[in-house]
Amino acid sequence: MRRSRNAKIIATLGPASSTPEKIAALFRAGADVFRLNMSHGSHAEHKARLDVIRALEEETGRPIGVLLDLQGPKLRVDTFENGRVHLEAGAAFRLDLDPKPGDDKRVGLLHPEIFAALKPGEELLLDDGRLKLLVERCGADYAHTRVIEGGELSDHKGVNLPGVVLGLSALTAKDLEDLEFGLEIGVDWIALSFVQRVSDVTELKMKVKGRAGVLAKLEKPSAVIGQELSGIINEADAVMVARGDLGVECPPERVPILQKQIVAACRQAGKPVVVATQMLESMVHAPVPTRAEASDVATAVYDGADAVMLSAETAAGAHPLEAVSIMDRIIQSVETDPLFERIRSSDQRDPTPTMADAIARAARQVGHTIKASAIVTYTSSGFSALRVARERPDVPILGLTLRASTARRLALAWGIHMVHTKNDIKNVAEMVEVATHVAAQDFAKRGGQIVIVAGVPFGAEGTTNMLRVARV
Ligand code: PGA
Ligand code: MN
Repeated sequence: MRRSRNAKIIATLGPASSTPEKIAALFRAGADVFRLNMSHGSHAEHKARLDVIRALEEETGRPIGVLLDLQGPKLRVDTFENGRVHLEAGAAFRLDLDPKPGDDKRVGLLHPEIFAALKPGEELLLDDGRLKLLVERCGADYAHTRVIEGGELSDHKGVNLPGVVLGLSALTAKDLEDLEFGLEIGVDWIALSFVQRVSDVTELKMKVKGRAGVLAKLEKPSAVIGQELSGIINEADAVMVARGDLGVECPPERVPILQKQIVAACRQAGKPVVVATQMLESMVHAPVPTRAEASDVATAVYDGADAVMLSAETAAGAHPLEAVSIMDRIIQSVETDPLFERIRSSDQRDPTPTMADAIARAARQVGHTIKASAIVTYTSSGFSALRVARERPDVPILGLTLRASTARRLALAWGIHMVHTKNDIKNVAEMVEVATHVAAQDFAKRGGQIVIVAGVPFGAEGTTNMLRVARV
């Protein structure tokens, strides 16, 4: 089964999409990767979803990526005596470490790290930015604030501190449990929320030890500036433009600019980049998207994103299947636009002075010149296939690997059709035979030509050093 597009689709699973039939339908409609969101649901529910995905993989013979999204240090106010209060603009309001239920004068904010980092003049945003408080005075266990934007505030609403770098690890106790669970059931990607600095990513990588790819979610202003951004992109295996929280912590007009900057930086580095949140938000209720939403998905594809993501649309919406189908059609429509073709062919990134990049660049050129049916890349870690994808060739990329984990992980990456092969290649003749055989299934007609990228000695990692043209 072959997709007729390059940009990939990530669909979040939730109550609206968890039966075996629904997951299979989402996959057939175009979902390449499924997200298990640890902010909702029990381990048992997520494990059941993963089992359905692996059974579907078995049945269709197609590798499917699974991304486990850690909640991260999502900050919340504690509870209120009556469940909710109304805060008037101009009123005084106190936040402190007291677990006693709150009222319209104060509430618990049981995160000492916040008070350690707060300074007078800083702003706190509550409930996705609907309410705003200005810190007037503060100490190690309290903050006196002035209500700038008032409104209703209820139990456990989220708190964002845009200007503040907190002395918090990006991994909470809950995240560590969820991580262990994810690695045990064998997910392909671990997403880290509220990354503030490079060391957050390093810390997770040291725990994951290569058992899954590590994806850094960019949703804090401190993570998207200059050195920190390029450091995070280098350290992570993939990146997400997490526009939900990013758009609370930054003014909305900054989000499109940051999206373009982050996508461009990831394109340069050759790291997969996901554009996420509210892409087809109105489809949580409506069977069709707004025109603005269709344009938003298209923009991410024109920008060169590897994948676009659906959250509530597929997890909790009324029309999960329609959301994936429409996303699939929007991507295909962009990718067949001559303007997209012009952007793609001029969006070439200089190769780094490595064999892998030299061969990847050559493969793109040879593939284009001979109008090859595919570039077939032998890859063990996935690295060489990603370097070929970085070239954004105009012929399909077929990735062959002995490792199921690599096949699944690259489901997230632009343009790569992964095939998990059982054939251990020992020489060039076998390499050509297996590559032509696999290409003949979905990509090449008899007599068509393919470009093969591989490394000799076969099976050794990081040895991409060979380019070969073969006829099917
Ligand atoms: P979330 O992350 O859905 O886990 O909050 C994505 C975002 O903030 O955009
Ligand atoms: Mn978020």
